[in-house]
Amino acid sequence: MRVEVLGLGFDNLTMDEAVERGLELMRRRDGGYVVTPNPEIAMACRKDPELRGIIEGAALVLPDGIGVVYGAKILGRPLKCKVAGADFAQGLFDVMAREGRSVFLLGAKPGVAEEAGRNLMSAHPGLVVSGTADGYFKDDGPIIERINALQPDLLLVCLGAPKQERWMSKNRDKLKVGLMAGLGGSLDVYAGAVQRAPESWQRHNVEWLYRLIQEPSRFGRMTQLPVFLVCVVGEKIGEKLKGK
Ligand code: UDP
Repeated sequence: MRVEVLGLGFDNLTMDEAVERGLELMRRRDGGYVVTPNPEIAMACRKDPELRGIIEGAALVLPDGIGVVYGAKILGRPLKCKVAGADFAQGLFDVMAREGRSVFLLGAKPGVAEEAGRNLMSAHPGLVVSGTADGYFKDDGPIIERINALQPDLLLVCLGAPKQERWMSKNRDKLKVGLMAGLGGSLDVYAGAVQRAPESWQRHNVEWLYRLIQEPSRFGRMTQLPVFLVCVVGEKIGEKLKGK
């Protein structure tokens, strides 16, 4: 059963459990998709029922970001932990490398996915990056054809949220893939174009601050985090009044 935070259900899993579930789905090849909503997307879902349906239709909904984890705690139904999409993918790659499995990288600016692919294959010997495509295409058709010719075990869709979630939901029945995951700016990180926060920052849950310092233009988007927490407190008060 999913843990609800502002009406959006999150799977309550440790990182190892999330990776195990992801591998199971991939081996079954049912072509489902994984999403990692942060508070910004959770807020967008409040105003957009179609987006909420897309998120809830995912095979795995992982809490990426400490905001969602705090929100769940405030509501008295704590999540086991934060499951950052980038860490989840690393967990998949480790096992996929041992099993010689393939991944297709879709998204980011031209050249980034290729560079990310080279880096991933040298970091995870045995992993097969079977194809790449940038995220600035007009028609889905030719991209879907390329992916289906390769039938990868995993398709990373890195078009930014919520574009990637809409894309995965719209195309899931046309795609011949094991599993898909929407991972935002991860290809930029794998390519070395953007640095993830050092581990100590990640451990202290201030990865968002590191990102803000790197990309100050994200400030507007990040104001959704305090708004999200205020709404969570409102929901908590509402639940108390109803005696839940
Ligand atoms: N992007 C893309 N196609 C688009 C818009 C964006 O491939 O039409 C890529 C962009 O180049 C970047 C990623 O999507 O690599 C978005 O990264 P961001 O960190 O903003 O992701 P979010 O935080 O929205 O998940």
